[in-house]
Amino acid sequence: MLHCPLCSRRVEPYVEDRRRAYFHCARCDLVSADPGSHLDAAAERAYYDLHENDPADRGYRRFLGRLAGPLLGRLSPGMRGLDYGCGPGPTLSVMLEEAGMHMEVHDPLYRPNPGALGRHYDFVTCTEVVEHFRRPAEDWGRLTALVRPGGWLGIMTKLVISRERFAAWHYKDDPTHVSFYSPATFEWLGVRFGLAVERVDRDVLLLQKR
Ligand SMILES: [Zn+2]
Ligand SMILES: [Zn+2]
Repeated sequence: MLHCPLCSRRVEPYVEDRRRAYFHCARCDLVSADPGSHLDAAAERAYYDLHENDPADRGYRRFLGRLAGPLLGRLSPGMRGLDYGCGPGPTLSVMLEEAGMHMEVHDPLYRPNPGALGRHYDFVTCTEVVEHFRRPAEDWGRLTALVRPGGWLGIMTKLVISRERFAAWHYKDDPTHVSFYSPATFEWLGVRFGLAVERVDRDVLLLQKR
């Protein structure tokens, strides 16, 4: 019997494909990949190494701009931010520094920066990261604790629309993607962690800590 890695309710089978099974939680609406299918650390690292994000890549900047634009509209110059899970080529932090922010970066694999995790920030960005959370209850607790009251958490992740769409979704085929959220999951996260949730694009959410 499996339990939801976010809210610990018992989960039900959702979709099964060639590679793995996915489960759905009726309380928080999270869809989670079978924990028995998680890659080991070496295989996961090898998979991440295939993604090369380059701060000079204009397409990648445009992609991140869908978060940076709406977020910057809520910030003032000189604020302190953290890009959590920046990957091998920090780009969003560079864009936000260009806009006058003071940035720290942290990535558990590529830029471990434990000193940056004991502080509070005016804002934290987390792009294409939360779908990789294997222990979302703990991971979201750690993430939201980094934001000061009144501060912002900027999230990019693709959202679950329906079971039919999920079954045909390329996003689930990335074996490092293990936690899939719907708008209802974000509402649940807002209640659990004291966040006002605003969806500003189809895969961009701004969460303000109360
Ligand atoms: Zn749940
Ligand atoms: Zn991803």
